[in-house]
Amino acid sequence: MIQSIVEFFKDLPPKKCAECGEPIEEQHECYGNLCDQCNSVG
Ligand SMILES: [Zn+2]
Repeated sequence: MIQSIVEFFKDLPPKKCAECGEPIEEQHECYGNLCDQCNSVG
């Protein structure tokens, strides 16, 4: 079933930062829609 989960995430579009528009590689719940830089600043 792990393979199905991987395919699921692969099908998802890359998440982008709502502030600078840069793609967010690591998706943490606490990060929201901001990348690591914007999250640190804000
Ligand atoms: Zn950003």
